[in-house]
Amino acid sequence: MTPLIERLHALVGEPGLITAAQDIAPYATDWRKRYFGKPLAVVKPASTTEVAAVMRLCAETRTAVVPQGGNTGLCGGATPDAAGAQIVLNLSRMNRVRAIDAVSNTITVEAGCVLANLQQAAAEADRLFPLSLAAEGSCEIGGNLSTNAGGTAVLRYGNARDLLLGLEVVLPDGQVWDGLRGLRKDNTGYDLKQLFVGAEGTLGIITAAVLKLYPRPRARATALVALESPAKALRLLSHIQGACGDRLTGFELMSAFCLELVAKHFPATQLPFAEAHPQYVLLELSDTASAANLDAALHDALVEASEAGLVLDAAVAASEAQAAALWALRENIPEAQVHEGKQIKHDISVPISRIAEYIDVTDAELQRAFPGVRMVTFGHLGDGNLHYNIAPPAGSDEDAFMARSGEASRVVHDSVVRFSGSISAEHGLGQYKRGEILRYKSPLEMDLMRRIKAALDPQGIMNPGKVL
Ligand code: FAD
Ligand code: ZN
Repeated sequence: MTPLIERLHALVGEPGLITAAQDIAPYATDWRKRYFGKPLAVVKPASTTEVAAVMRLCAETRTAVVPQGGNTGLCGGATPDAAGAQIVLNLSRMNRVRAIDAVSNTITVEAGCVLANLQQAAAEADRLFPLSLAAEGSCEIGGNLSTNAGGTAVLRYGNARDLLLGLEVVLPDGQVWDGLRGLRKDNTGYDLKQLFVGAEGTLGIITAAVLKLYPRPRARATALVALESPAKALRLLSHIQGACGDRLTGFELMSAFCLELVAKHFPATQLPFAEAHPQYVLLELSDTASAANLDAALHDALVEASEAGLVLDAAVAASEAQAAALWALRENIPEAQVHEGKQIKHDISVPISRIAEYIDVTDAELQRAFPGVRMVTFGHLGDGNLHYNIAPPAGSDEDAFMARSGEASRVVHDSVVRFSGSISAEHGLGQYKRGEILRYKSPLEMDLMRRIKAALDPQGIMNPGKVL
C-alpha cells in the first residue's frame, strides 16, 4: 500500500476503500463507455465526517478528487483521468433519508440516495418528489443536483435546481458547510447553494440536501398526438397550457423516424395509429383532483385542437397499462438509437417559441452539408430542449460519418447560438463539451466562472479537467 492509500484506509476502513483493478473498473468508465480512467483508488465514505476527513487529507497531499454518484452522467464528468493519481469519491454509501416534514413539504436526504428511492420515500409520505428521468433507478440525488438534471416533468416542476431548498457541502479544504435549511424564504445574501448545482463536482462535495415535495397527484391522463410539424406542436403546447394550465406535466416531441426506430428494435411495440405521421407529441396531465375531471379536460382540449387543425390523430390512454405503453415509445428511443448504430448526439435548448424554426433551419443546413442524414429529433419540447441527433445516411459508412462529428456539431451548435440557445440543456459539460463551450460563452462569463472556481478550490483538486 502507498502511504496515501494507508491513510485513506485509516479514515474509511475496509468497506470504504476499493483498490483492486478489477473492482475499480466499473467506477472508472462512463455510462456511454466513451472515457476510460485509471484512479489510484475508489473511496466510499459512510458519513459527512468521513467525507470531510478524506477531503482534508486530499487537500494536504494535493490529491485530485473526482466525485461520483450513480455514474450515469452522459458527459464523462464522473470519470477520472488515466494517470493513476486521482481518487474517485463515490457517495453511494451515504444513502439515508434523514427527515421528511410533510407540513413544510420537505425531505432531507443524503447525496447517495438513489432517485427512485427518494421518489418512493416521498410517496410513502403521500407526497410527490417530481424529478423523473430514465436513469432514476441508478442515478443519485447528489449527481442530479451536480448536473442540474432535467427529465420529463420540468415543464411543471422545474429542474433539479428548482427543487432545492438547502445543501450540505464538504469544501475542498475539508470544511463542512451546513446550509441544510428548509426555508421557502431566505434573503440573507448570495444564494450559495445554487453555486454547487450544475457545478459537476468542481467546487465541493454535496453530501446532503433539503428538497421540495409536492402534493401527490391522484389522476394522470396521457395521450399520443400525431401532427404535421413541430410548428403545429408548438401551437398545441400553447393551446393545452391555455386549456389545462399547470396540470400539463409533460410535453415530449418525437419525429416519425424516432418511432420507426423504436418499432424496428422493439418488435413488441404497438403503435396506436394505422398510418405513420410526420411528428408526434406525448403529453401528460396530472391533478390532485379526480380522474374524471382530468379526462374531460384532456378530451375537450384535444377536440378543440383538432377543430383548430392542429392535430392529425390522437390516442388517449384508457388505462395505466396503456399510458405505460405510450411512455415506452418515448423512453425506448435512446436504446433503439444504440441498436441502430452510431449517431452524433446533441442536447440543445433554444427559446421555446423558436424551436420549430430552429429544427427547420438546422435540418436544412445539415442536409446541405451531409446529404441524406437521418434526424433522430426528440425531447422536451415544453422546455425548449431537444435531443437533436444525427444518424448517418442509410447504407453509408458509419465510421467515415462519425469521423465528421466535429463538423456536424459545429453546424448544430453555431445554429443554436444564432437562436440564442445553449449547447447543453440538461447533460452538462463534463469533459465532453469542456472545449466546445469556450467557443460559445463570452470571455467575461468564462472569467467569472474561473474566479469562482479559484475562490472555492484554490489548489484545483476538485474534479480537474471538467467544465473549465
Ligand atoms: P454521476 O454520473 O455519478 O456524476 C455526474 C456529475 O456530478 C459528475 O461531474 C460528478 O463528478 C458530479 N457529482 C456526482 N455526485 C456528486 C456529489 N455528491 N457532489 C459533487 N459532485 C457530484 N439527464 C437529464 O438531465 N435528463 C434526462 O432525462 C436524463 N436521462 C438520462 C437517461 C439515461 C438512460 C441516462 C444514462 C442518463 C440520463 N441523464 C439525464 C443524465 C443525467 O445527468 C444523470 O442521469 C444524472 O443526473 C446524474 O446522476 P449520477 O448520480 O449518475 O451522477
Ligand atoms: Zn432529456
